[in-house]
Amino acid sequence: MSFCVFCGKDLRKGGDFVQSRDGLLLCKTCVDTAEDIFRRKNARDKASLVKEGGKGTIDLKKLVKDYPPPRIYDALSDYVIGQDTAKKVISLAVYNHYKILSLIDATDVEFEKSNILMIGPTGSGKTLIARTLSKILKVPFAIGDCTSYTEAGYVGDDVENVLLSLLIDANYEVEDCQKGIVYLDEIDKKAKTTNNVSISRDVSGEGVQQAFLKLIEGTVANVPLTAGRKNPMSQQVVKIDTRHILFICGGAFVGLEKIIERRLRKDVAIGFNTDPLPKDQADFRLFHHVETSDLLQFGFIPEFIGRLPIKVALNGLERADFLRILKEPKNSIVRQFVKLCEMDGCELTFTTDGLERIVDVAMERKTGARGLRDVFERILRNDMFHLRESKITALRVDRAYVDRQLALLEAAPDKGATVKARDEMEAA
Ligand code: ADP
Repeated sequence: MSFCVFCGKDLRKGGDFVQSRDGLLLCKTCVDTAEDIFRRKNARDKASLVKEGGKGTIDLKKLVKDYPPPRIYDALSDYVIGQDTAKKVISLAVYNHYKILSLIDATDVEFEKSNILMIGPTGSGKTLIARTLSKILKVPFAIGDCTSYTEAGYVGDDVENVLLSLLIDANYEVEDCQKGIVYLDEIDKKAKTTNNVSISRDVSGEGVQQAFLKLIEGTVANVPLTAGRKNPMSQQVVKIDTRHILFICGGAFVGLEKIIERRLRKDVAIGFNTDPLPKDQADFRLFHHVETSDLLQFGFIPEFIGRLPIKVALNGLERADFLRILKEPKNSIVRQFVKLCEMDGCELTFTTDGLERIVDVAMERKTGARGLRDVFERILRNDMFHLRESKITALRVDRAYVDRQLALLEAAPDKGATVKARDEMEAA
């Protein structure tokens, strides 16, 4: 057969066709039409989930009554180790934000939204703080990765896509979505290049800042119900008012510490600043001294920075923090792995020197506390793989155990999960 089974187009006239196993042909036009039909149906299905015009399920008065700043701070501390200043500043900012929302219809005072900028090294807890906040307050939450966003017209995601994630998290309840929290990660990657020597920055940085600016200060955004670039022909959109959404932006701001240091040294030289400077040149503690002028120099447009009135720095985590992170949070990595092993009938224990060794290996990776989980998975992989069948009832992780497992992985990186590899190593 040499015709499209759908429209009858003749293969000999040219064009793209696909062929089924039993020789049936389908032309590209019919494939595209079918795809379009499915996409429209998908969007219609989603549109039917959207709940608009209602009051939503979030009770702001109760939220504000139940969560004064110290209560938010305490609840954050169940999961986030250290970062006391950031936790305090953010607890107060978030409390104020929802307090204002709860009063908004009853007052004619105009309030500025307390959007937050978090500056801190990678793996120090920025995302964790934002995510935990939304969990505590039970409000919708979405994370947008700024590196994937580009100015309209370029290849990449539109900034509105983060609002679709927020709407889904709000169970398609538009009113709840409009009271949610959005965390914009890696905002520093959208600094414009002109003031900066870094060539890795996106050339459209300023355009994306403008797009974010609109969302952050409040606009009614047309949010496509299926992710991807807006296509007015086949898209169903829902209108989301972003005026009351709390935006938290975060980034590692590599190089900002040098800008701050230069300014501080100048201030010292002309007698404006008498505080002693931290000795370490690339010290993250310098982030605590950040001022708007530093961020402008880093490559942000003034309007954008102006929309983030709360600026807070996170500390680089130290060895003692890493050890606490392993054990103390309610969902700590140690607790999680102990539980996993318990389900297979094995008691997992850790000695202090074992945990210290894990911390040292994780710290070498320079990815902050993010490296801890990775190290855990690597060293326990071998034994956990066979735990259920092996009937091992106890596993003790001490320094020697950690080193043995690491050596094993290094010797046979592709056989990391096999007992055979271990047996071979041990026999050798
Ligand atoms: P970033 O600062 O880059 O956003 P994250 O918040 O995503 O870092 O941290 C990565 C992981 O490291 C978290 O999921 C958590 O397990 C751990 N972590 C980082 N900082 C802390 C902290 N201060 N307290 C507890 N865990 C932390």
